[in-house]
Amino acid sequence: MATRSIHEWRRQERPIFLGDFWNDGPEVNGCMAGGHRYFHITNDGDLEPCVFCHFAAENIHDKTLTEALKHPFYRDIREGIPYDGNSLRPCMLIDRPWVFRDHFERYEDVEPTHEGAETLVTSLADDMDEHAKQWAEVAERAWREGDFMGLFPYPPGDKPDYLKAEESEEPAEAPAAAQE
Ligand code: SF4
Repeated sequence: MATRSIHEWRRQERPIFLGDFWNDGPEVNGCMAGGHRYFHITNDGDLEPCVFCHFAAENIHDKTLTEALKHPFYRDIREGIPYDGNSLRPCMLIDRPWVFRDHFERYEDVEPTHEGAETLVTSLADDMDEHAKQWAEVAERAWREGDFMGLFPYPPGDKPDYLKAEESEEPAEAPAAAQE
């Protein structure tokens, strides 16, 4: 997995910043959207949870940004992070599309910010789910068998079911970083 190599190169402190946008969830403790760490405002003033999330519940021409971010659509997004703790699967759009659909369906005033954006929760939904499930198998294994858990552990008491089951049967294999 390229992510592992990039972590190795970072440890070597090369004089260059090595970014790995798609796999840098652990570096920022998961998703940053909805005002958790950032948000995006379109040129029309629509307040999108993230630059890739083309839906909005508020527009900053109608109220202050502070007031707009109190809308439960954004609050729910913030409070849901970091899901089960595996920040190799941080994204509510790509890695966990059912999470975003749940946020979207809960509030009638959440609207797509451009034509076609709604396909994320309609015609593309099944394909998104399938892709996410395939990635989940890889990401869960990488999180468990790599050194990620040593670097970025799950929140206490918030481990996924497969880890809880393993730990109740026999001691879980220590992550690579902890074996050194
Ligand atoms: S919604 Fe996805 S792309 Fe947007 S900040 Fe969260 S993880 Fe990143």
